[in-house]
This record gives sequence, structure tokens and C-alpha cells, in this order.
Amino acid sequence: MYDLIVIGAGPAGLSAALTAYEKGLKKILVVERDKEMGGILNQCIHNGFGLHLFKEELTGPEFAGKFIEKIKETNIEIMLDTMVLKLDENKNIYILNTKGYQKLSAKAIILAMGCRERTRGAIATPGDRGAGVYTAGAAQRYMNMDGYSVGNKVVILGSGDIGLIMARRMTLEGAKVLACVEINPYSAGLRRNIKQCLEDFNIPLYLSHTITDIKCTNNRVSKVIVSKVDEAYNTIKDSEIEIECDTVLLSIGLIPENELSKEANITIDQRTKGPVVYENMETSVEGIFCCGNVVQVHDLADNVALEAKKAALAACKYVLNERTFEREIKVEVNKPISYTVPQKIHLPIDEKLIDISFRTNKILGKCVIKVVNSSGEVICKYPREYVIPAELEKINIPVSLIKDEKNNITIFIEED
Ligand SMILES: Cc1cc2nc3c(=O)[nH]c(=O)nc-3n(C[C@H](O)[C@H](O)[C@H](O)COP(=O)(O)OP(=O)(O)OC[C@H]3O[C@@H](n4cnc5c(N)ncnc54)[C@H](O)[C@@H]3O)c2cc1C
Repeated sequence: MYDLIVIGAGPAGLSAALTAYEKGLKKILVVERDKEMGGILNQCIHNGFGLHLFKEELTGPEFAGKFIEKIKETNIEIMLDTMVLKLDENKNIYILNTKGYQKLSAKAIILAMGCRERTRGAIATPGDRGAGVYTAGAAQRYMNMDGYSVGNKVVILGSGDIGLIMARRMTLEGAKVLACVEINPYSAGLRRNIKQCLEDFNIPLYLSHTITDIKCTNNRVSKVIVSKVDEAYNTIKDSEIEIECDTVLLSIGLIPENELSKEANITIDQRTKGPVVYENMETSVEGIFCCGNVVQVHDLADNVALEAKKAALAACKYVLNERTFEREIKVEVNKPISYTVPQKIHLPIDEKLIDISFRTNKILGKCVIKVVNSSGEVICKYPREYVIPAELEKINIPVSLIKDEKNNITIFIEED
């Protein structure tokens, strides 16, 4: 029996395992289906990682390397090339690797399986089904890890960060990126990526546009039709633009990887597609915690690693029987806030502050984020110059302000 099993060796899993080790858990196992540790960071060879956590700008592999080096100095057991096929509520995992099928058990589990990309089918783009259509992350892996060029004349559908980063990457490799097409009136990517990956290379961003047809010649993409959409996302007649290209990259969102969580009867939040969590990153199943992109899509690996520490500290307390809480309250939201993480808070707790993150589904200018208690009193306010859907928003609520709350708190935003 392990003290802790961590599923996934991306930045979330590695940071969680190290924290649990530093806090004194003795028997820790990390299970990873890939042949090496590092998760998605291994294919992110651009810089921009580590500014918050390590105060230096690192590439993805360098950022992962910082954790991997430390892990190697510990007795944390790492099982690579091993797929977790099943997880149950009793904290058993069922794994498959070259040694066969095995059941392993732990006192606590941390889920750190990351997320996967939304594919073409998920948005049902019409057109021919020829070669040359990739998800941006798959193209990134082919280029950065396997050394393949994926195309020469590229159109990117969706302006998520992976697509933006691939626009720059493919340009640097000599491809011509002709357009980035985004159905929303705002970009889904970080502002720094719009600047550094599109504007700096004069790549046009078509907001409120989508691909309405993909044409193939000899079974390879040869042209896309891009159309403008109205506020209800209906295509506008006679707005079509034809772009000749041989490659379409899809950067249309990520979905937390929760097949294992669902099998273990962990409650999933339909808004985040990740587990419903408490402030300590515990799921609805006692002793199963989660962190990183399996919970919600994060912008920065630094925040993933920090969240993982929180999950690991809570898992240690669980294993060592040091929990104190007696009741729970809910975190509710009003539009345009789409969701929060955590969705629930245990009380009483030792921590002084509770971190709450959320996204909005609309761009707001100068505004104030407010938190009200169940009696309708505003208990804290957080002014912002702007709030945008692409950036994960964070607030810290002092626990002293909610310690007597019995039901729920609600977070909303008022524009100035
Ligand atoms: C293209 C791209 C560019 C990015 N650029 C930046 C950037 O510039 N700066 C920045 O700070 N952040 C960036 N990010 C975000 C950052 O990389 C992610 O937030 C972070 O890697 C998420 O970490 P994670 O550990 O939750 O997931 P992942 O890194 O995805 O790791 C999850 C791991 O779990 C494993 N796994 C999943 N299921 C199983 C299973 N059943 N059995 C065994 N193992 C399993 C996977 O193989 C994987 O190794 C980028 C992300 C992407 C995709």
C-alpha cells in the first residue's frame, strides 16, 4: 500500500509528488503513460515558463527539468510507460505496462492527468476530409519532438494559446501562416501571445470569423473558406474569403482528461469539465485530490505547480489524519463569471486566505469583483482595470470573513 499515488508526471504531478515527499510521506508513486516525465511541457520548447515560480524565463523542458532533477534525488517511485486504466472510490488504481496488468492501492490519490485537445469533430467543421488538418498540440509534438514539418501554408482555426504559439513556431520554421481565425469577437489566448506570436510576425487575426469549408485536392487540404459571423455565431452571407493553404491547425480548446475520475464516481463540474473541488483540491471522493489542467485549463505552468502543492499538502494531512473541518459552504457565481475553482470550501480551516480562480465569458473594462455572503453583505472587493475570458482571474478571500458562514458565498462583477 502506497501513502500516495500521483497519476500523471506533468508539472502538476511532479510538483505534487515533491511536496508530499518534502512533507514526509514515505511511499510515493508517480504513474505516467509517456516514456518520460514532464507532461505537455516536453513539447513546449518556447520560453515563457517559470517567471513566477523560479523568477527566470525558461522553456517548457527546462521548467519540467527543475522538478525532474529534484525528483531524482528522492526515493519517489516513478513508473513510466504505464497507463492507469481505472481508478475506484477505494483508491485502487489498475495499471497496464510491459509487465502486465496490476492493481495498486494508496491511502490518498492525486489526479494530475492534464487535458486533451478538442478535435475537428467536436465543432463539426464542414468540408473535405483530407490530410493536412491537425490539432495544434499534435502539430507541435510532430515538429518539436519528432522533427517533422507539418505544412507550408497554414491557417489556424481558433486563437487558443497553442495555436498562437504554433503560428510563431511554424513561421520560424519557414512556413507561411496566412491567418488565425477566431469565431468569438475576442481572442482565446493570452495577450502576450497575441503580441509575440501574431502581431510581431504580421499574421492577421480574423475575429468573429470561422472556417465554413475545407477543400482538398489529391486528398490534401488546398483551400479554406472563411466567413464572418454575427453575434449569434451565424455566418454572414457574402462575407466569404478564400485562402489557399495546405494545412489547417485547430486550436479550439482543451478538455480536462477525466475518464478515470468519472469511473471513480467523482463529481464533475459540467462548466469546467473537471472535478468539483474544495479549497484544498479534494474531490467529492474523500482522499482523492486533483491539480493542474485536469481541474481546469490553466494559463501558466507556474500556477499549475503551485496548485499541486496545495493538493499535496491536503493529501498529506489526509494520510496523517490531521484534518479539522466540520462543514462545507458553496461558492456561487453570477454572470458573466462562468465558474469558480474551488466550487466548495471546508470550514473551519487553518489557512488565512482562500484562493479562488475563475473565468468570465465576456470582456469587461474597469470593474470591481465583489464577494457577498448568504445574508447579502459585500464582504470583499477587488478592483480590476479589465477582465478578459482568456486570462484566468484570481482573488484571495480572507478566511476570517467567511468563518461563520453556513451556506454559501457569491462572487459577481460590477462594471464601473
Ligand atoms: C502548447 C502549449 C503551450 C503552453 N505554453 C505555456 C507557456 O508559455 N507558459 C506557461 O506557463 N504555460 C504554458 N502552457 C500551459 C502548461 O503547459 C500547462 O498548464 C501545464 O503543462 C499543465 O500541467 P499538468 O501537469 O496539469 O498537465 P500535463 O502537462 O498535460 O501532464 C499530464 C500528464 O498526465 C499523463 N497522463 C494522463 N492520463 C494518464 C493515465 N491515464 N495514466 C498515466 N498517465 C496519464 C499525461 O501523459 C501527461 O504526462 C502551455 C500549454 C500548451 C498545451
